[in-house]
Amino acid sequence: MISLLTVIQLTACNHIPGSTQKEVKTVEIPDFSSDSAYRYTQKQVDFGARVPNTTAHELCAAYLSAELKKFGAVVVDQKADLTAFDGTVLKSTNIIGSFNLGVQPRILLFSHWDSRPWADQDPVPGKRKQPVMAANDGASGVAVLLEMARLIGKNQPAVGVDIIFFDSEDYGAPESFRSQNTEDSWCLGTQYWAKNPHVTGYTARFGILLDMVGGKQATFFKEQSSEYYAPNVVNNVWSQAKSLGFGQYFVDQKGGAITDDHIYVNQLIGIPSIDIIQYDPKSASGFASYWHTTHDTMENVDKNTLKAIGTTLMHVVYNEK
Ligand SMILES: [Zn+2]
Repeated sequence: MISLLTVIQLTACNHIPGSTQKEVKTVEIPDFSSDSAYRYTQKQVDFGARVPNTTAHELCAAYLSAELKKFGAVVVDQKADLTAFDGTVLKSTNIIGSFNLGVQPRILLFSHWDSRPWADQDPVPGKRKQPVMAANDGASGVAVLLEMARLIGKNQPAVGVDIIFFDSEDYGAPESFRSQNTEDSWCLGTQYWAKNPHVTGYTARFGILLDMVGGKQATFFKEQSSEYYAPNVVNNVWSQAKSLGFGQYFVDQKGGAITDDHIYVNQLIGIPSIDIIQYDPKSASGFASYWHTTHDTMENVDKNTLKAIGTTLMHVVYNEK
């Protein structure tokens, strides 16, 4: 199904009676399937926790790269050995899928695809060394972008689109290690790409990061660094979400300031980028209760939330000219 949206109505009037011209352009915006996005979430979880240097991680990378190729993207698997805060060398892969290659301007959409190796926020101390399944914190954002890639491949928008699945985001130092400055121990894949973009001189009109976008009754507040670096992008996304009827998800209020992949895309490569991330002002962490626990599983993933995010982003991308 395709929804039609009237994007522009031009009226030229030169004060001569009968000479008024009207041009109405419509943009076809493919309908985002939450069933499909849910299946892509499940598929990633079915590999097991996608922790760097594991078989599940390796198999999931191959799957994500193959899916993007299947949808018609030009794909780059950007491999790098990245050193974690504790000296572990992470065999990492940023997976980059480009549509409408050669077309300017470009829109950058991104999410991290790796799982956190330790559920260090788990309420049960004995479980804090287990990996996080990352159904929401990882798989949900990638799943929304995979569904968008499937649709974009069939019906390309006016702009170029680059989708990047970043690796090694969630290998950041646990609290027990945070005596030293370990803030940059997160987002390692993004830091690497921003210093070594897959195309020399790469730039985009703007970037949007999806992180934890599948939770039940999730709320997305205006993250503070996004407002600082890219206020117009925040306002564009939030206002399109509201007009689509998703105002209960996209709350028109300031949220926290969150260290996430978009920080490095803003600071290191200068692309104005925002973070759409679940935020709960009532919880101590600011995130959902199952964040970085062994309970970040499929039972917390909700198709309605995936639909709200995916539909909004489809409108944002297809309304760009
Ligand atoms: Zn995380």
